[in-house]
Amino acid sequence: MKKSYFLADEAATVAIGAAIADVIKHHIQKGIVVFLNGDLGAGKTTLTRGFVCGMGHIGKVKSPTYTLVEPYELPDWQVYHFDLYRLADPEELEFMGIRDYFSDNSCSFIEWPEKGQGMLASADLTIDMVYKGEQRVISISTQSELGKHTLQKLQE
Ligand code: ADP
Ligand code: MG
Repeated sequence: MKKSYFLADEAATVAIGAAIADVIKHHIQKGIVVFLNGDLGAGKTTLTRGFVCGMGHIGKVKSPTYTLVEPYELPDWQVYHFDLYRLADPEELEFMGIRDYFSDNSCSFIEWPEKGQGMLASADLTIDMVYKGEQRVISISTQSELGKHTLQKLQE
């Protein structure tokens, strides 16, 4: 299953991240793994910010470019934002204890997932983002039943 969205500006990108959070909190009630694909500046971090705040985080969302992962411990959820752009070797993720990050009440949004090949949980959703000026076109595809249910509940 696949849906595409046209996002006119940054606020629209934040809003779709928040809309995914609403579906997870209210309908799915289980953690998901999301892979984010797109060039630098495509809006992967911006969309993740919408998700993190939608899940209840108050405050800043910084890009984990140097730390590889930024954890958000929320009352009912753990949210992990990964940016693997600078990962030299997928094995490094083993030392980070990556396996412990994937659980039933944790959501992981992963930028540059191909850099962690073989070490990541499989995706429920993959978001491909392409851009032109301020506009973004994103397509969200599903790789699991959980992903399919999530996307079905997401508004067109
Ligand atoms: P990435 O994580 O994919 O490298 P970021 O989310 O960090 O991208 O950066 C996207 C940049 O593009 C930000 O500076 C943001 O202000 C800008 N921007 C402009 N229009 C949009 C849009 N429609 N969606 C997301 N970001 C946008
Ligand atoms: Mg980013």
